[in-house]
Amino acid sequence: QVRVRFAPSPTGNLHVGGARTALFNWLYARKMGGKFILRVEDTDTARSTRASEEAMVRDLKWLGLDWDEGPDVGGAHGPYRQSERTAIYKEMADKLVAEGKAYPCFCTDEELEAMKKDAEEKKLPPIYRGKWARATAAEVEAAKAQGLPYCYRFRVPSNQEVKIHDLIRGEVSWNTDTLGDFVLLRSNGMPVYNFCVAVDDALMGITHVLRAEEHLPNTLRQMLIYQALGFPVPTFGHVSLILAPDKSKLSKRHGATSVGEFRTQGYLAPAMINFLSLLGWNDGTEQEIFSVEELTTKFSLDRITKSAAVFDKVKLGWMNGQHLKQLPEEEAAAMAGQHLVACGLLASADSAFAKAAVKLVSKSMELVTDVEPEVRKLLAYPLAETLAAPEAKAVIDDGFAEVAGAVLAAYESGELAAAMAQGHDGYKAWINGVGKAQKRKGKKLFMPARVAITGRMAGPDVGDQLEVLGALAGAADVAEAGA
Ligand code: GLU
Repeated sequence: QVRVRFAPSPTGNLHVGGARTALFNWLYARKMGGKFILRVEDTDTARSTRASEEAMVRDLKWLGLDWDEGPDVGGAHGPYRQSERTAIYKEMADKLVAEGKAYPCFCTDEELEAMKKDAEEKKLPPIYRGKWARATAAEVEAAKAQGLPYCYRFRVPSNQEVKIHDLIRGEVSWNTDTLGDFVLLRSNGMPVYNFCVAVDDALMGITHVLRAEEHLPNTLRQMLIYQALGFPVPTFGHVSLILAPDKSKLSKRHGATSVGEFRTQGYLAPAMINFLSLLGWNDGTEQEIFSVEELTTKFSLDRITKSAAVFDKVKLGWMNGQHLKQLPEEEAAAMAGQHLVACGLLASADSAFAKAAVKLVSKSMELVTDVEPEVRKLLAYPLAETLAAPEAKAVIDDGFAEVAGAVLAAYESGELAAAMAQGHDGYKAWINGVGKAQKRKGKKLFMPARVAITGRMAGPDVGDQLEVLGALAGAADVAEAGA
C-alpha cells in the first residue's frame, strides 16, 4: 500500500510551494487508495510554534487535503510530532552506537573551530577528522565519568557510492567522501533534522518521499541512515522549484505567496487546487480546468515535470473565474453577499440582491470580491463628471437632454420603478417605448439612456444594473456606506 506524507516545519505560514508538495502527495495517495500522513517537523524548537502548526492545519483543511494519520487524528505510527518522538531517536542513536555505526564525540566548540580552520588552511573539505572517531571504549568511559558533554556522530563509511533513482530527476549519486561524520544527536539531546526524517519515514512505513528539490542534498545523509539501521529505502521524487514569472525565486515581493493570503483574498479552494496541480504536472493534454475529483483519478507521478514551474497569478485569476462560473448560483450569491457585508455595503447578506449583483459581474468576475467595485459603481452617479469628458460630446449633441427628460419623467411618475420591478425585460420594454415616441433607436437611444440612468458612458447591461438596484431597494437593510 502506498504511504506518503507531508512533513512541514511549523515555522511560518503554508506557502504555495509547501501546498503544492502536500497536494502531489495527497493526490497520489487518493489515486492509489493509499494513506496520506501529516507529520510535524518541529525539532527546531527556537523557530517552531504551535500557532504556525495550527495555521497550517487550517489552510490544509481549507484546501480539502485531509490526512489519514497525523497529530490531530492519531494513527498506528504516532506520535506525529517530532518533538514527541525524542525517545525514539535516542533509541535509534543508541542502537547505531552499539553497532559501532555512530559514536559519542566529546569535542568542544573550540576544538571543532580549530579543526575547521586547520582544514581551511590545508584546503581540505570541512569534515570531522577528530579523535573520537577512533577512541577506545576506555577513553569514552573516562570522558563520560568526567561528565563532559557529548553529541552522537554518524560514522560515514569512506569512499562509497550512494545512488538513488529519483522519480523526477533520474539517477542521482554521491560519494560518501564528500561528507564528514555528521551529528545525529546534539549534546542537549536534540536530534538533528536528517536523522529524524530518515527514522520517521522508515518507522512510519513511507513508500514514496515526494518533496521539494531543495531537499535533494539531504538525501545522502538520509540514505546512509536507512542503510545503517537496515531499513528499506523509499522511492524518492524531488519536485522542481516554483519560480516567479521573472524566473527569480518566488518571494514576498511578488505579492501573496501563502495559502492563507489567497484564501482571504477570496480565491476558491478548488481553483487553488487546480492551479497548484499544474505547477509541475500536466495530464498530457491541453486541458487546464480540472475538478478535484478529476485530479485524483488523472494524477500520475510520471507526468511530473523536471523543469521549474512558473507561478502565474494572471492564470490563477482566470482559473478562479472559471471555477466561480461553475458554482451553483445560490452558492456564488451567498459568497458575494458575505463579501458585501464584510466590506460594509450590505448589513446582511440578502441573497436576492447578491444574486443580482453576481449576475451583473458574472461575465467578467475572477474573484468573488469583484462584485464590490461593481456595486459601488452602481451606487455612485458621476453624471456631471461624465458629461464634462470630451467623449460625452457626441451623446450630448445627439439629444441627451430629450432622452434624459423622458427618464426623469418616468422616474417621477413611477413608470420607471414599475419597469424595474420586472427586471431586465421590463426595462427593455420601457426603453423601446421611449424610442418609439422619440423616433430613436440603436446607439442614439441606448447611449443617452445609459448616461441618464447610470451616470456613466460604459458598464454592464443597463437592464441588469436596474435589476440590481431594484433588488437593492427590496433589501431593507442596505448599509449606510453604500448610499
Ligand atoms: N520539514 C521539511 C520542510 O518543511 C520537509 C522535509 C521532507 O519533506 O523531507 O521543508
